[in-house]
Amino acid sequence: MKIDIVTGDITTRPVDAIVNAANSSLLGGGGVDGAIHLAAGPELLEACQELRRRDYRDGLPVGHAVATPGFRLPARWVIHTVGPNWHAGQRDPDLLRSAFFESLILADSLGAASVAFPAISAGIYGWDPRVVARTAVDAVREADTQKVELVEFVLFSEDMADVFVAAA
Ligand code: ADP
Repeated sequence: MKIDIVTGDITTRPVDAIVNAANSSLLGGGGVDGAIHLAAGPELLEACQELRRRDYRDGLPVGHAVATPGFRLPARWVIHTVGPNWHAGQRDPDLLRSAFFESLILADSLGAASVAFPAISAGIYGWDPRVVARTAVDAVREADTQKVELVEFVLFSEDMADVFVAAA
């Protein structure tokens, strides 16, 4: 599996699946979550509302992942995961690892050959970007995937991209 570090907007990536740093509500938010909902169109919110009604009445737990179509995105799927919120006292690195790992395993099980990740928990959720980068790279390398050939980490700033390059 190849790992690429890319600077830019994850919503434009021509990959099979992009990962959303969602919150437990699955009903949209700020940061990358807001950008993905805006680019995917209102059908994404409807799909997320349906998931809430059907499978996640109490919300998606931290460290878990669930898939929807990508709707108006170039990507065929969006994998929604919830990273731990440092500011809320969620400071167990296993939860962060799980958000990356479970997202990749789910994308693989859908048949995705390429997957793009943002820096989950490194924005509003307040984790140290260096810890996020190290955890992300380790989690992806540990995953025994069958279909995924390319993992991209798509970072919004050059500074964040530098942190991921140092960890890769
Ligand atoms: P969290 O709540 O998990 O911390 P955020 O969305 O606040 O998630 O931030 C995660 C990272 O995603 C931050 O580094 C932020 O700058 C970045 N980000 C925001 N918008 C985009 C985008 N369109 N593409 C890629 N990364 C983005």
